[in-house]
Amino acid sequence: MNRRGLLIILSSPSGAGKSTLAKRLRAWDPSIIFSVSATTRAPRPGEVDGEDYHFMTESAFKKAVNAGDMLEHAHVFGNFYGSPKGPVRDAIIDGKDVLFDIDWQGAQQMTNSELALHTLSIFLLPPSIAELKRRLEQRGQDGADIIDRRMQKSWDEISHWGSYDFVLVNEELDETEARLKSIVTASRLRRTQQPQLLDHVRRLQQEFEVTE
Ligand code: GDP
Ligand code: ADP
Repeated sequence: MNRRGLLIILSSPSGAGKSTLAKRLRAWDPSIIFSVSATTRAPRPGEVDGEDYHFMTESAFKKAVNAGDMLEHAHVFGNFYGSPKGPVRDAIIDGKDVLFDIDWQGAQQMTNSELALHTLSIFLLPPSIAELKRRLEQRGQDGADIIDRRMQKSWDEISHWGSYDFVLVNEELDETEARLKSIVTASRLRRTQQPQLLDHVRRLQQEFEVTE
């Protein structure tokens, strides 16, 4: 029997650092599988279909939802986003962790599902609203109108911070990365993530009975 994989959920307002920290976590442990979301939004320059997102038309997205192929899905900034079910169940049974960069609606659907026992939810807060705006501008991938829309929506996302297991203020990137790794390391040791220990404890019991 393997250890159980964690479903690691990262949420934050747009620009607080989810994608950056998701990349660092996977560089630290390449066995972590990234859940590539489906979306109806247009690709940004440099985004690769099938790696960053599965880019889809609205009708293909709705078809997938109706077929029950999405673990969760939501409407965010005028586009649909969803996490395909396929890779997830096998991964956690195999003892692999899966990382989700999803909004509060998706996080809520997952933490209310039968997978709740294996979820680890982490919310990233920006150090300030001015810094959040600076990061969105400096990323340089969205026009001023899109950045304004994301900034207006940032409070909607931040207001859900209280439903997450862990909350990190992403001020200094290396420090946030270190804290994130500690959270993952500790959560892998939750009793419910370690069914393989049943055999170990049974062996300890046998040894104990022999030496009694
Ligand atoms: P970003 O906020 O700059 O990363 O812009 P994106 O367009 O990539 O994502 C917009 C929002 O949609 C972010 O809050 C993402 O976390 C969220 N999102 C991405 N994929 C999914 C998904 O599969 N499900 C849900 N519920 N939200 C998602
Ligand atoms: P999200 O995925 O949450 O929208 P990103 O990871 O794309 O956010 O980060 C937005 C921008 O902020 C990127 O240009 C990224 O390099 C930068 N960034 C992320 N974390 C920090 C940090 N702690 N300090 C400074 N800049 C950061």
